Amino acid sequence: MDVRGYVESNAREFIDDLKQWLTIPSISADPARHGDVRHSAAWLAGHLRRAGFPLAEVWDTGGLPAVFAEWPAADPAAPVVLVYGHHDVQPAEPFEEWHSPPFEPVERDGRLLGRGASDDKGQVLIHSLGVRAALAASGAAAPPVTIKLIVEGEEESGSEHFAALLRRERERLACDVHVHRHARAAPGGGHADRAGPRPALRIVRRWRAEPPARDVRPAGRPAR
Ligand SMILES: [Zn+2]
Repeated sequence: MDVRGYVESNAREFIDDLKQWLTIPSISADPARHGDVRHSAAWLAGHLRRAGFPLAEVWDTGGLPAVFAEWPAADPAAPVVLVYGHHDVQPAEPFEEWHSPPFEPVERDGRLLGRGASDDKGQVLIHSLGVRAALAASGAAAPPVTIKLIVEGEEESGSEHFAALLRRERERLACDVHVHRHARAAPGGGHADRAGPRPALRIVRRWRAEPPARDVRPAGRPAR
């Protein structure tokens, strides 16, 4: 089975998993929802383990938890790819402007609607299906590159503890390429993956030093 065939035949299960995650109101800016942010992290780590990641952990940050996962390549000399994402979501008020409740995801006209679907839970979760599809297509037991995911829980509230986490875990986060899939998935929304050399820390910190990219970037204009 090729990659596309695998994705299509597993899409229903994937979407149902994503919908389950979207029901967790992981609003990092709302202290009343911090339990949900922790629940979201645990859910993601469990999902990634079920998807086959040999390692998926919830990392304490001193604030809200991040999730780290790693699927090593069979060849220890293979390049290491680090993917960034976040599992917290923005507040959903004002509720009256929603056509359906923000944490009760619905499918409409081929789109999945719910808080966090396109920022950033959908982008994070697609990696589990993508890796599985690639392995199914190749017949290999491990990916051709080592894949690491770092998924923080405070992006929507200022990433207060993220820089310190990167410093603390610098060795485990070391990579050859950093992929930043954090962008709006709206039709027409432009986005450029980011990639760079080691160390991840420098790349991520440079990116963090930029003004917030979400919701303010004109469609079609890639992030710099
Ligand atoms: Zn975001």
